[in-house]
Amino acid sequence: MKNERTGRVINVNANMVTAQVDGFIIQNEVAYIIHKEERLKAEVIRVRANRAEMQVYESTQGLKAGDLVEFSNELLSVELGPGLLGQIFDGLENPLPALAEKCGFFLKRGVYLEALADETQWDFTPLAKPNDKVLAGSWLGFVPEKIFKHYIMAPFSLYGSLEVLSIAPAGRYNLKQPIAKLKDSAGRTHDVFLQQVWPVKIPIRAYAEKLRPQEPMVTKIRLIDSLFPVSLGGTYCIPGPFGAGKTVLQQLTSRYAEVDIVIIAACGERAGEVVETLKTFPELSDPRTHKPLMDRTVIICNTSSMPVAARESSVYTAVTIAEYYRQMGLNVLLLADSTSRWAQAMREMSGRLEEIPGEEAFPAYLESRIASFYERAGVVKLYGGAFGSVTIGGTVSPAGGNFEEPVTQATLKVVGAFHGLSRERSDARKYPAIDPLISWSKYKSFVNPENQEKGVAILRRSHEIAQMMKVVGEEGTSLNDYIQYLKGELFDFVYLQQNAFDPVDEATPKDRQVYLLQFICGILDSEYQLEDKAAALKFFQALRQLMRTWSSAAYLSPEFKKIEEQIAVLLEDKKAKKGK
Ligand code: ADP
Ligand code: MG
Repeated sequence: MKNERTGRVINVNANMVTAQVDGFIIQNEVAYIIHKEERLKAEVIRVRANRAEMQVYESTQGLKAGDLVEFSNELLSVELGPGLLGQIFDGLENPLPALAEKCGFFLKRGVYLEALADETQWDFTPLAKPNDKVLAGSWLGFVPEKIFKHYIMAPFSLYGSLEVLSIAPAGRYNLKQPIAKLKDSAGRTHDVFLQQVWPVKIPIRAYAEKLRPQEPMVTKIRLIDSLFPVSLGGTYCIPGPFGAGKTVLQQLTSRYAEVDIVIIAACGERAGEVVETLKTFPELSDPRTHKPLMDRTVIICNTSSMPVAARESSVYTAVTIAEYYRQMGLNVLLLADSTSRWAQAMREMSGRLEEIPGEEAFPAYLESRIASFYERAGVVKLYGGAFGSVTIGGTVSPAGGNFEEPVTQATLKVVGAFHGLSRERSDARKYPAIDPLISWSKYKSFVNPENQEKGVAILRRSHEIAQMMKVVGEEGTSLNDYIQYLKGELFDFVYLQQNAFDPVDEATPKDRQVYLLQFICGILDSEYQLEDKAAALKFFQALRQLMRTWSSAAYLSPEFKKIEEQIAVLLEDKKAKKGK
């Protein structure tokens, strides 16, 4: 290797190791600390004269002054190529099941495995021809991966116009066999493989244009799609106290959101929870294909028992893989659960670097790190004209559910939608526990905007009356107000709340949402002849019962129509006659 540089460990402080180096040091380059037979991976996070301060991605137990350090000249990078889908990796892209097999249950430090299997043969079909002019990211050919065409692209690391010197004929190739040769404008030639390598902390920018997110990402969760929508290529934040339903919500979204690929960054929640994610995901089926959901999923996971540095890298590894599939013209959804653990990892490392702490001891750069992570979302127009997107949803788990803390606040500044979970709603088992009174979205819904506004307005009004009733009692409330209150409750109960364990109700497609919301707004808009509060309560309870059974009926099925007729009869009976 060129520029081979080495150093010696002079100080070890938990996962921070300082080395004295002969020669230059590159910020963020990867280094290996050699301890007996082990090679421990580390990243340079601060350079001070001839000293490199490094975070080690492993336990540093037993390291001592004088241990050899080798510098790699490379930034922390991941392998990108066919075979990523369906895999479970740690934050450094080590395949976890393979690691567990190799090292037993307790992962051994210093063991790094290839993310992609070198020897697997892939059926390659060329698209480019010799003499073609291409750019970094251009599609040179493809291989089938699960249900997708996995495009093999000109390496993102090349600059300017590239000439295709040769391209392999259709056939089976493994990751180590070149499939094309390119010449750059300086006359240098480059071999292209099915796989390429990219540094995780640098966004992939091989596209013609970044566009404003516009098209809704259908999640089939009514509360989200109808009231607080997310656009393809947009960003959203789900803060919520422990147990409020963040993980369940993310699993529902992974299954039902109308996207091609889902990347899960399970970063640093309790070990038990991550183990559960690892157990449940492989068993989930894809409602669209009835094949395993894992066929279009990649999971990156770290538990809080893994070293902080590995936790910190997992969100970058995840977003880089998301960008890679975006370059193939796919819509990718990245779910990070939870970004608070990521922020805590930053805080721990900053503490060890003895940096000047900001609010709640988080580093001063917390905001800019969070912003630059969410900025990697977006819709892009690729050079070939296709569009791809990365949508990012991150959960935040603030202590005690208090949203006035730095991570939630920094996230709110950059995201386009906010789905705040409330303890009050989850305690009342109102799922999804997204609180419609605090949530918001800057994106456009596919429902009629008038209906969207009407829904939010009736909820606010109903809440106000409920608060007032707590003070003045039901007797002190007018019949009209009481009816407004019941309308809000009805809307919440039959539209916003969704039963995740009912096969029909758990996911509501677009057309059904548009129809239902229009129907319910009709109910909310109407006036009814109800002589007193008891009659009002009875009427709305009857409606509620019927509409709940309606939720479980397949859209436009005979059963659906029958219940709809029953509801109509009930409504007609009480509707105030015009002019009265
Ligand atoms: P968090 O990740 O916020 O700590 P979870 O997603 O693990 O919380 O949810 C905790 C529990 O709440 C779940 O085990 C489940 O029993 C219940 N729950 C959450 N969301 C729903 C839902 N949409 N429908 C039904 N039950 C839910
Ligand atoms: Mg959780």
